[in-house]
Amino acid sequence: MTITDRTHDPALRSWVASANLPGADFPVQNLPLGRFRRRGVDEPLRVGVAIGDQVLDLKLAAAQCPWAEEIHPLLEPLAAGDLAAFMALGRPAWKALRAALSAALAEGSDQGPFLELCLLPQSQAEMALPCRIGDYTDFFAGIHHARAAGALFRPENPLLPNYQWVPIGYHGRASSVIVGGGSVKRPHGQVRTSTEVPRFGPSRRLDYELELGLWVGVGNPLGTPVTMAQAEQRLFGITLLNDWSARDLQAWESQPLGPFLAKSFATSVSPWVVSFEALAPFRRPLTRPEGDPDPLPYLDSDFNRAHGAIEITLEAWLQTARMRKQGLPAVRLSRSSALDAYWTPAQLLAHHTSNGCNLNTGDLLGTGTLSGAQPGQGGCLLELTRGGREPLTLADGEQRALLEDGDTVTLKAWCEAPGAVRIGLGAVSGTVAPA
Ligand code: MN
Repeated sequence: MTITDRTHDPALRSWVASANLPGADFPVQNLPLGRFRRRGVDEPLRVGVAIGDQVLDLKLAAAQCPWAEEIHPLLEPLAAGDLAAFMALGRPAWKALRAALSAALAEGSDQGPFLELCLLPQSQAEMALPCRIGDYTDFFAGIHHARAAGALFRPENPLLPNYQWVPIGYHGRASSVIVGGGSVKRPHGQVRTSTEVPRFGPSRRLDYELELGLWVGVGNPLGTPVTMAQAEQRLFGITLLNDWSARDLQAWESQPLGPFLAKSFATSVSPWVVSFEALAPFRRPLTRPEGDPDPLPYLDSDFNRAHGAIEITLEAWLQTARMRKQGLPAVRLSRSSALDAYWTPAQLLAHHTSNGCNLNTGDLLGTGTLSGAQPGQGGCLLELTRGGREPLTLADGEQRALLEDGDTVTLKAWCEAPGAVRIGLGAVSGTVAPA
């Protein structure tokens, strides 16, 4: 079964020169959507397409460029800044717009001279959240994270027996999801002490979590579960997601009901939503270790076995305040792959709705921390430092067990494969501000 089309052709180049540079995150094969306005200008948000180091403004493009008749109704909500209304239209609309944008931005396009006037350098764009997020759920799909985190508390029994059967998740907080680039204030909370009275004060064990965010395009009515076959059709796209975590608050509050205030103070996402269409060349078979059980039938499909996983490389980088002052660049903390996830995006969506729970357009699902099994592949400091017991020594000699004020964490991700043009998700940064 072929899941790619001419929009993925590696020979395609864009008339936007920066899109053709090797290593560019946003070549013409990517075409992610995001909401923005011109920095410093008081104007309504509109949706744009990232191309090279530019943004194609779809409000201007809808008004100033000729398009095929069937494309106008698709551009209308985007020009109005309503990405959710476009996401709700479903896969045929997403594919039609992608094909039209691919043709318009490709070298030799008749639309080039019109669209050239609709570009804005990304450095001059102020990005907003892709849409209003109704609900946010965070999963635990990274088995190496589950095992490494479990080993800190239960060395003899790191992986609980439900893990290989049920995608574990909890209901997160949508109101505190922010688009990256700003600061994240160290939260206050209750922390266990050596006496029986807990302390209330600033968290001393702040961490990040390297995750992907999955954006629901088409929702389902209450009481009507989404099958695995339908799940692939309803997921719109992905971003990076940093699930900031206060480990000391988490350890005290989460027994027995799970994470609460340790997570809900902030979750950062990257601004450009990379569509599942763009990810087609990087889809891979779902593989499980020998001897692991097959998923139950409601979490299984031929397509998921053949193409359910996605090959995405993920990295976390750190620049401390001292490094910034000395002009030192950020250092890489980890590199891991989304192929190590135990559950696929479709399985997370199908499982979430399997009890009849309704998801809505614009809902956000976090994958959970995506770690590998090897040293240097842990997707959070909890793993990289074994719960703070083995602090990292950074290039400038500083040590880190957990995040300090002034630390900037940057997550990056991209896809590479033979026969395909590399595409990137961009990056999401956040700097820890004092409590
Ligand atoms: Mn998480």
